[in-house]
Amino acid sequence: MKDRSQISLLGLDRAELTLLVDSLGEPSYRAKQLAEAVYRQRVESIEKISTLSQQLRRQLAAKGISLGLPRIENRFVSQDGTVRYLIAFSDGQSVETVWMPEGDGGEAGDGSEAGELAERFAESSLNTSGAQGLSENEPGAALKRCATQKHKQLQGQNQGRSTICISSQVGCAVDCQFCLTALLGMKRNLTAGEIVGQVCAVLKEQKASPPEDRINLVFMGMGEPFLNYENFVKAARLLVEEVGIAERRMTVSTAGIVPRIHDFGGETIRPKLAISLNASNDALRTRLMPLNKKWNLEMLMAAARAYPLRTREWITFEYVLLGGVNDGPENAKEVAELLRGMRCKVNLIALNPGPGIEFTTPDSQRVATFQETLREAGIPAFVRRPRGRDIYAACGQLKRTVEIATAPAP
Ligand code: SAH
Repeated sequence: MKDRSQISLLGLDRAELTLLVDSLGEPSYRAKQLAEAVYRQRVESIEKISTLSQQLRRQLAAKGISLGLPRIENRFVSQDGTVRYLIAFSDGQSVETVWMPEGDGGEAGDGSEAGELAERFAESSLNTSGAQGLSENEPGAALKRCATQKHKQLQGQNQGRSTICISSQVGCAVDCQFCLTALLGMKRNLTAGEIVGQVCAVLKEQKASPPEDRINLVFMGMGEPFLNYENFVKAARLLVEEVGIAERRMTVSTAGIVPRIHDFGGETIRPKLAISLNASNDALRTRLMPLNKKWNLEMLMAAARAYPLRTREWITFEYVLLGGVNDGPENAKEVAELLRGMRCKVNLIALNPGPGIEFTTPDSQRVATFQETLREAGIPAFVRRPRGRDIYAACGQLKRTVEIATAPAP
């Protein structure tokens, strides 16, 4: 194990970089040069920061300061183009980060056509009064626009429209019964630098550069971002201010850490909010997500209703459909009841299976009926297309690459 006491430039904001260069007796414009090198050029090491004098590079190294870009240890490529990266940090711990090229959605940013449709939906038809007023034929019009967009992409325009799914913790403590990450248990929190570092490493590898390339970001990988709140918030700020990813293109998903939902509403920089609902009543939710004992549906819904939405913003509720467990029309009706009157939409995810997971994936007819029942009740509902299931890169499948027998990418 390497020493973790080393300071990384990655993770420092402009004020901290300024303090650092001041302490070395350097002019403060050096902070800008460091930020450019770390977050925009994404150089691998301090020696490679060519804007700095050799002497300053040596001084930084002598202080035990390193760049801190995490290492891509392994990559798995799916038939659908999704890439699952195993990314290792200086202490040897690793997480998984997923790159989903094209066909992504701006709002949901989840790498799905559902997200794409939802985005068109938002841009074309949402007014500040919310999604509840959408008429029947609007999804059709939005769909048409999606098809046009798709066509443009195929013509080679609008390149670089991709989604990165990042992790916030090594493992997870929440213990959702349908999620592979839960089987790992909780190892440790990631630092802000390690969260941002995943993005920098993947952008570098993919030769993508925001804002020129349209990058969506979802905090939906391993871990519960709201149980690593400070680091997550700092990472989000660095991603907006330094890496250049638009705030509206980021979504954070929480299992429902109610006090942090309240806190999050007060942040100046905040990605969009997604809440993993996954069950339509308390008994079911407690069985599937034990954290429901602590923060039940009443508390969760109260936090969601109190959440201060911005113009053209809504809350996304994710709902993993488990065959014969939570996927019946009666469950859909209960969900519609819970969400009645809220400015929200529902993303339905048919279970992505995995070893050690007891549940089954519902057939597509059941998924369609669930969606239809929600829509009939006036709730916009979308089915999320699984990405990278063949390489265990889809939602809830992120575990440890080494523990899963899949063939490495060629
Ligand atoms: N801890 C956060 C973010 C990570 S999970 C959260 O719970 O929201 C991201 C999404 O994947 C969540 O909506 C979660 O419910 C869903 N998910 C987990 N396991 C899944 C599985 N096996 N199949 C499909 N979706 C799953």
